[in-house]
Amino acid sequence: MKKKFLKDGDQFTYLKNRVCRQCGEPIADQDKITKEFCEKTYDKFGKPKDCKTAWHRENDKPNRTVHSRIINNLNAISSRLDFLIKRKGEQVSTEDLDIYEINLSECLNYHIEKNGTLTSEFLNHTIVSNPFTEIHKIQYHEK
Ligand SMILES: [Zn+2]
Repeated sequence: MKKKFLKDGDQFTYLKNRVCRQCGEPIADQDKITKEFCEKTYDKFGKPKDCKTAWHRENDKPNRTVHSRIINNLNAISSRLDFLIKRKGEQVSTEDLDIYEINLSECLNYHIEKNGTLTSEFLNHTIVSNPFTEIHKIQYHEK
């Protein structure tokens, strides 16, 4: 009788309605409070069911998309800068930057000197801008 009482199922309750974030399988109240996924199990063919790994694989994807969008954008700015240098030379006006859709705020890094000179670093270029003359000098990174 005692044995029957301790059988699986009897010792677990599901009153807190916790479920696996991936597959929705109930998680027992007696499980760790931080538990968010069901246990990794193997089916009869030895194929694993690993909800935690599956969930992260799916949910880290948007991050990778964001990263590649940022990189693509920086690469695109880089080729527009190359093109701008070819067309206009290394010294360009703010209007030129606008036409070529080069937004200085999209730089990787910048610093402003005491005299107001703004240096914006891009993937392959550095743009030194004079705020008074609105002349921007585009340089390739020193390698
Ligand atoms: Zn699950």
